[in-house]
Amino acid sequence: MQKPIVVVASNNVNKLREFSQILAGYEVVSQKQMGFDEDVEETGETFAENALIKARAAANALGKPALADDSGLCVVALNGEPGVYSARYAGDHNDANNRKKLLAKLKGVKERTAYFQCAIAFVFPQGKEIVVEGRTYGKILEEERGEGGFGYDCLFLSDDLHKSFGEATAEEKNGVSHRSRALAALLARLKEE
Ligand code: IMP
Repeated sequence: MQKPIVVVASNNVNKLREFSQILAGYEVVSQKQMGFDEDVEETGETFAENALIKARAAANALGKPALADDSGLCVVALNGEPGVYSARYAGDHNDANNRKKLLAKLKGVKERTAYFQCAIAFVFPQGKEIVVEGRTYGKILEEERGEGGFGYDCLFLSDDLHKSFGEATAEEKNGVSHRSRALAALLARLKEE
């Protein structure tokens, strides 16, 4: 029997691979493969709102179930900053500049608890919408540690791994990451449908 199609509102190959591995009952395709390649503006104030904006746009344009994620880093002492602005914190979508800004903001701050959060929205064209979230906790280091990963990984000392995400292997990070936890929650919800 043919698997139902789910469109992923992202062209990031790593995300697409991760989604296809976990959503084994679906044929996972990118929105670009389906002929929709609009860059939707992420105007939401929460990760969930942004994920919904992206998933709704793809589902409505293509008439197929679509999913989108949105994620970022939240630092407790900074009232959740950089949050939904994680990718553009320093204003120029540059990971190194974003990390520099974060370290400057936390200079002299002792309480360095932080978490990565990921929201995934799964939207059916008929109107049903599922939103799930996952978090992973840690502390912001005083300086970068490790060469792996991307974004804020080398500044994030994972409570689960006792090393930075920049020092962790992809498998180690995937075992505890906000994205894999959100995906596990999505899978559980889809099984209930
Ligand atoms: P997006 O959800 O892929 O657009 O990610 C938004 C931004 O949040 C990224 O550009 C990173 O700055 C940050 N971010 C999200 N997830 C991670 C992660 O797993 N490691 C490091 N940074 C992340």
